[in-house]
Amino acid sequence: MQQWQIELQNCVRTLDELEQYIPIENKDHMREVLANMRLSITPHTLRLIDFKNPNDPILLMCVPSDRELRFSPEELTDPIGDEAKSPIPFLTHRYPDRVLVYATFFCSLFCRFCFRRTKTGEATPGPSAEDRDRIVAYLRAHPEVDEVILTGGDPLTLLDEQLEDWFSRLRSVSTVSRIRIHTRVPVNLPSRITNRLVELLRRYSDATHPMYIVTHFNHPNEIAPENVEAIAKLVDAGIVVHNQGPLLRGVNDDSVILEMLFKKLTNMRVVPYYLHQLDLAKGTNHFRVPIERGIEIMRELQGRVTGIALPRYVIDLPGGKGKVPLAHRYVKKQTDSAYQIESPFGEFVNYTEPEK
Ligand SMILES: *Cc1c(COP(=O)(O)O)cnc(C)c1O
Repeated sequence: MQQWQIELQNCVRTLDELEQYIPIENKDHMREVLANMRLSITPHTLRLIDFKNPNDPILLMCVPSDRELRFSPEELTDPIGDEAKSPIPFLTHRYPDRVLVYATFFCSLFCRFCFRRTKTGEATPGPSAEDRDRIVAYLRAHPEVDEVILTGGDPLTLLDEQLEDWFSRLRSVSTVSRIRIHTRVPVNLPSRITNRLVELLRRYSDATHPMYIVTHFNHPNEIAPENVEAIAKLVDAGIVVHNQGPLLRGVNDDSVILEMLFKKLTNMRVVPYYLHQLDLAKGTNHFRVPIERGIEIMRELQGRVTGIALPRYVIDLPGGKGKVPLAHRYVKKQTDSAYQIESPFGEFVNYTEPEK
């Protein structure tokens, strides 16, 4: 067994195990919380938490809270309409050129703000060989799809052989150019990024068939030397790594924290891609930051922080309606050719377009 598999076996998964790190006040409530979504914290992430600080950002992200039992009427079971746009099992096709494929619903660590908690939270089985055949047939019938996003759950918790099965199937479809993997493994289980895995990813990429990884760091405290090393291995192998994650109350809803996060990532050659408005998943309201505040935070970063480190702030609309950027309105149209545009330093600049 490999080191990462041993670490997976040693995750904190029960309240009794968690109690060795932090006192649990209302066990009945907590049992109810875990009935909605399981608990798992990897040994790597446990080591990064300061359990003496109740506001530790990593603790808030992975230790269950009885606030998860408070549902608001606006919160939804399927917050971004995964089901609404699913033509066959384990596949969501919302945009013309790309599909989501759910390779597994298992995760090394269950994030307490998960938007797919109804799937990941229960031990939902992943796709069978028959399901995988059907997915490949769907891709052959839809040549307009040139990108497959392996998601879940966390695809990199699969064994190398299972990943190879996915890659060989996907590469057998000539119209699929890009394979993208959405994973938190580089954050929570960096030992999974073995030389063998990197070799496998490299074997299924070439100069015009790239392998992209989109990972999910939310706070600078999540970046330890092991994480830096795991990312360096991937980037050195020619894999393009991006980062996305939600804006979370009490965790990263602060432009100074986000500046630190985005710069650390950029220094690791990870491209900050999306900062998400938290999806309306049930029992996540204690993490939610108002859109107005999110826009203000991004505005504070614009101009202050190097452009290559700035992600787009986006919202995924309920009902499978799609993602759109959220941004301050810098541009105000005055007449047909005259605009007033706000500078990143708060100055209003008149801008007139030359006549056509
Ligand atoms: C978010 C999402 C994608 C990926 O969108 P990008 O903007 O390309 O990152 C693709 N399909 C679905 C259904 C999604 O929800």
